[in-house]
Amino acid sequence: MSSKSKKLIETMEKCSAHNYKPLPIVLEKGKGCWVWDVDGKKYLDMLSSYSAVNHGHRHPKIIAAARQQLNKLTLVSRAFHSELLCEFCKKVTRLAGYDMFLPMNSGAEAVETAVKLIRKWAYSVKKIQKHNAEIIVCRDNFHGRTITVVSFSSEHDYKDNFGPFTPGFKIIPYGDIEALKNAITPNTAAFMVEPIQGEAGILMPEKGFMEEAQKVCRENNILFALDEIQTGFGRTGKLFCHYWEKGVRPDMLIVGKALGGGIVPISGVLADEPVMSLFTPGEHGSTFGGNPFACACANAAMDVLVKEKLSDKSLKMGEYMQNKIRKSVKSKYIKNIRGKGLFIGIELAPEAGGARKYCEALMEKGMLCKETHENVIRLAPPLVITKKEIDWAVEKLKEVLND
Ligand SMILES: *Cc1c(COP(=O)(O)O)cnc(C)c1O
Repeated sequence: MSSKSKKLIETMEKCSAHNYKPLPIVLEKGKGCWVWDVDGKKYLDMLSSYSAVNHGHRHPKIIAAARQQLNKLTLVSRAFHSELLCEFCKKVTRLAGYDMFLPMNSGAEAVETAVKLIRKWAYSVKKIQKHNAEIIVCRDNFHGRTITVVSFSSEHDYKDNFGPFTPGFKIIPYGDIEALKNAITPNTAAFMVEPIQGEAGILMPEKGFMEEAQKVCRENNILFALDEIQTGFGRTGKLFCHYWEKGVRPDMLIVGKALGGGIVPISGVLADEPVMSLFTPGEHGSTFGGNPFACACANAAMDVLVKEKLSDKSLKMGEYMQNKIRKSVKSKYIKNIRGKGLFIGIELAPEAGGARKYCEALMEKGMLCKETHENVIRLAPPLVITKKEIDWAVEKLKEVLND
C-alpha cells in the first residue's frame, strides 16, 4: 500500500465511525467496469457497490442527464410538484407494470415505507385489530439497517446492541412454503421476502418458491411484498428477479440501488392504486424523496437499461461467466457455485478459512470483490462487462483459487 493510501485510511479511522471493514484500498476514479485508486492503479469492479452500479461507473448518458439537470433545478421538496418527478413516476410505473410509485432515498427507507403501507392496508382493508398486524419475513434476510428493519433481522451483529425492537414480525426459514403456511394467523398482513438473498450469500430458493408463496398469500388475503433492491434492474438476467417465475407479480415491489444509475440514492415502492392510495397527506414523506436531480438520473438510468438491453446482457454474460468459472476454477475448497445472470456466488468450504483473504488476494491482482457471510465470494460486476473482461476476471480467480 502506498503512503498516500495509508495516510488516508488512518485519517478515516480517526475521523469516521468504524461500522464497515472495507478492503484497504482508496478509490479516486471510475469508468465503466473499472476503478482507479489514489495511486493510479486500475481495478476491475466485481461488486458494483452492491449492485447500485449496474450501469457501470459514470455511464455517459446518465452523466449527461445529471449535468443537464444540475443546470435547471435540483430540489423542491414535496411541498411542490416537479416536472421531473412526474415524468419519472410515469416511466418507472410503465416499466415495472404498476399503477403507482412512491419515491424515497435509501433502500431501508423504501422497506420502512412498505412496512407502513402494509400496516395501513391491514387496518383499513383487512380490518385487523389496530396495532396487531404481523408481517412474515425470512431468516437471514437483509432489508436494511434502521431500527424497525433490524427488528426483523436474524443476524446477531445487526441487532445485539440495538433493542428495544419494533414488534409485529415473524421469522420463518427462507424458501420454506410449509413454514409460511404455518406462520399465518388472522393477524398476518404480508409476507416480505427477497427473491434471492444477496447479503446472506446469494441464496436461491427452490424453483417455484415465489409462485407458491404468492399463491399462499392470495389464498389467505395477505400482501406479497418483494424486496428487489439488490436483485432488480437486470442484475439476475431479467428486469426483475421475479420474472424468472411465470405469473409472479407481487402486490408491492421494493426497489432502490441501481435505480439511481450509480449517481444518486433513490429508492421506492411500486404498487397498484387500491394499495398505494391508502396513504393520505401527512402520513408519510421524505424531503429529498423524488427530488428532480435524482429523478433525472433515474430517468436516464431506466432509459439506458432498456435501450442497451442490460437485462439480456446480464443473462448472457452471467451464463458465460458461471460456465467459465465452473470449467476453469478448480479448488478443493469450492463447495458451490451458484447464481442467476451476473449475480454469482462462489461458496467456499469452512476449511478455506473465510472468503476475505481471497478477496484481498484478488485485490492485489487488480480485481475488487467482497466476501459475504464469511464463506461466499460475491461476483456482481456492472452489467456492461464484456467477454474479454470476464475472461480476465476468471484468470484472476484461477490464480487465487486453483489448488
Ligand atoms: C441494500 C439492500 C437494502 C438496503 O438498502 P440501503 O440503500 O443500503 O438502505 C435493502 N434490501 C436489500 C435486498 C438490499 O440489498
